[in-house]
Formats: sequence, C-alpha cells, structure tokens
Amino acid sequence: MNIENLTFQKKIAINNNDSLLIIDMQYDFMPGGALPVEEGDQIIDDINLVAEIFKSSNGIVVLTQDWHPKNHKSFASSYPGKNPGDEFQSEGIGPIIWPDHCVQNTYGSKFHEDLKKEYAHAIIRKGYHPKIDSYSGFIENDKKSETGLAGFLNSLKIKRIFICGLALDYCCYFTAIDGIDFGFEVYFLVNLTKGIDLPPGNISNSLEDMKNKGIKFTIKDNFV
Ligand SMILES: [Zn+2]
Repeated sequence: MNIENLTFQKKIAINNNDSLLIIDMQYDFMPGGALPVEEGDQIIDDINLVAEIFKSSNGIVVLTQDWHPKNHKSFASSYPGKNPGDEFQSEGIGPIIWPDHCVQNTYGSKFHEDLKKEYAHAIIRKGYHPKIDSYSGFIENDKKSETGLAGFLNSLKIKRIFICGLALDYCCYFTAIDGIDFGFEVYFLVNLTKGIDLPPGNISNSLEDMKNKGIKFTIKDNFV
C-alpha cells in the first residue's frame, strides 16, 4: 500500500469537537538524533500551519512526548549482546528494541525548537514506566496502562482526532489504531508524518492496516 493509492478526505472544517494530536516531535527523532526519522524535521512548518487552523477554529491541540527513564527496557543497551533494531518481544516491550532515546530531561527528549508548542492545550508523556514501552499516545504497550489522553479528549467532547508527527509506522500508527478502539473518528495526516520503515515494508503494512480499520486519510491542503 503506497500513499499514492489512498483516497483523501476533502473540505475538512475544524470545530470544537476536533483534536490535533502531534506525536513525538522531539530532537531524538529528528535527523542527527539518537533514533532519527529521515526528513522528520521537514514536516514541522506544515504541522504548525495546521495547528494554527485548529487553534483559530476552537479545536484542541495535544502534543505527545516520548519520556523514558535512563536504562529503559525498550533500549537495546538493557540487554547484553542485543543491538538497536533487533526484534525482541516481552510483555510491554517490542517488537523492536531501540537505541537509547528520549531520556527524560536530556536534549534529545525536548521538542524541536521550531514546533509551536504554544498552540498545545496539553502535553501527554508516555514511556515513563521503566519496563513498559509506549508507542501509542493512548495506552502503553502492555495494553493496560492508559496515558489519560482518552479521558482528556472525552471530557472535552472530542469526536474526531487528526494524527501527525513521528514516526508514521510506530507511534502515529499505534495512536491511530487505538483511537478507533477508544471510539474516536480518526484521520491520518499522511503528508505531516514520516516513517522509519523498520522492518522494511512496515510503512506500507501500517497504511493498509489503518485503511482496513476504518481510519480516514487526508492532507494538509484539504482543510478549509
Ligand atoms: Zn521510545
């Protein structure tokens, strides 16, 4: 499944039942960071423009922030003989283990300075349990520990969520899938995200899964 094969929703008008979820726009996921996503910094300006639309239309803007303690169990360095990118599965961790990244209070865990954080109503941190990874902004990888995002959005009567940020095939994908499970109408902003495609083919599989799950796709220029 390629982005070119997707159908995009058109003429989207934002209102106060809509939320923009901006996923993990942190230095460690940018080119030069510990877990870089290619061209991850090239979507920042357009994300800011869309965040501005949400702000001026009374939508709710949420940032997520990957926020690991040192020696987190999602890091390959926690396992002798393992390397970043290796497949690894245990309760709350996997299917891949990663280089050390987004360690709390380090430069790499900070949001990119160009991201307009002032538009955000809330920042949801995830991945802070030492033994549990969290790709999704809603629920950690043990599928039990909620971040509080669903409750926050429900209390504000949010019906539609729009997802952008990094990385397409991990944190954005899992947030989108969980968004459906939590009862939201989910839109994926395909030109406001970049993927890592690990293992190869993962981006394509993620897009296909999302389509099958009923997630809608759109692009920046389709907001009115
Ligand atoms: Zn992480």
